[in-house]
Amino acid sequence: MSNILVTGGCGFIGSNFIIHFLNNNPNKSIINVDALTYAGDLLNLIEISDNPRYIFEKGDICNRDFIEHLFSKYDIQDVIHLAAESHVDNSIANPDAFMQTNIIGTFNLLNVAKEYWMNSPGDYKDKFKNSRFHHVSTDEVYGTLGEEGLFHETTPYAPNSPYSASKASSDFIVRSYHHTYGMNVVTTNCSNNYGPKQHDEKLIPVIIRKALSGEKIPIYGNGKNIRDWLYVLDHCKGIELAFKKGISGETYNVGGRNERTNIYIAEKICEILDQKVPLNSGKSYAEQISYVTDRAGHDFRYAIDATKIENDLGWKADENFETGIELTVDWYLNKYKSILETV
Ligand code: NAD
Repeated sequence: MSNILVTGGCGFIGSNFIIHFLNNNPNKSIINVDALTYAGDLLNLIEISDNPRYIFEKGDICNRDFIEHLFSKYDIQDVIHLAAESHVDNSIANPDAFMQTNIIGTFNLLNVAKEYWMNSPGDYKDKFKNSRFHHVSTDEVYGTLGEEGLFHETTPYAPNSPYSASKASSDFIVRSYHHTYGMNVVTTNCSNNYGPKQHDEKLIPVIIRKALSGEKIPIYGNGKNIRDWLYVLDHCKGIELAFKKGISGETYNVGGRNERTNIYIAEKICEILDQKVPLNSGKSYAEQISYVTDRAGHDFRYAIDATKIENDLGWKADENFETGIELTVDWYLNKYKSILETV
């Protein structure tokens, strides 16, 4: 039995990842460290709260003493790092927390892991010779694409928002710990995720919630911005594979080849809701779609080339957008039951 420190496990991807990973790996225990910011929710992990291989520790990844204490207390063997401030709009309004958590927090975790794994006394160090730091990052570090082209692992970084700039910084710090200190690191850069347990502030939950409560469904600009959508469980499987089989020092792009415009997403969700929970008025939910002033510096298009993780590690997305969004809408219909009673 070895202990893995997962950071940010009470958030959207982290909670889906922990449940998936524990089910798949009976000889591993997970210590979940999460500061429970507005984005973290213990209820996301309620189904494993009494699993003896799962421990929750509330705390801030920027706090060095606390992270050092966790490494010694649990003799941490590996780290899978997801904790971050993750919402682009918040990073435009208030970037401070993004720089702190995404940059300083990542630096702090790397430093403590390096000390614990590489500077342990004598033979004890051997125990950690294969210890790995897996960094979970985003395709937004590459900036924006025009109508053509894909992000490859070799695409130069060109982050445009405070969020993506802070993630790009963290990717570079992780890279430097491999090149300078020989640390065993892997980074995955993933496209936009969707699925159960995403925070209410993000595009897809907003569309579903506003539709059901009879409010306007806000779509930025002309709705033509394109994202490459990936079902969260497919991302979790990609993280697990890269963590176990990825080559140290390498980065892997993860994406489902599911490019969709924002307006397509809103219309598709409305179409599913029209079928599953038709409005008494006979109208379509799509009539609630309303264009709003575009996000400052809004990147036009993201699209991932996932060939490397597919060919080298055998990863493949199981869901396409149309199957994944159906699963997602079903999950939110259950979550928003109270709103539904008033539809
Ligand atoms: P999220 O906002 O849902 O969850 C982040 C979690 O981190 C929360 O539980 C929060 O409480 C915790 N956290 C924040 N600051 C902390 C701190 N200082 N110390 C400890 N915990 C802290 O985010 P998410 O969407 O689940 O994203 C997880 C990771 O995946 C992030 O690193 C993000 O950059 C990356 N990512 C996300 C997407 C996406 O579409 N959501 C795509 C690619 C990569």
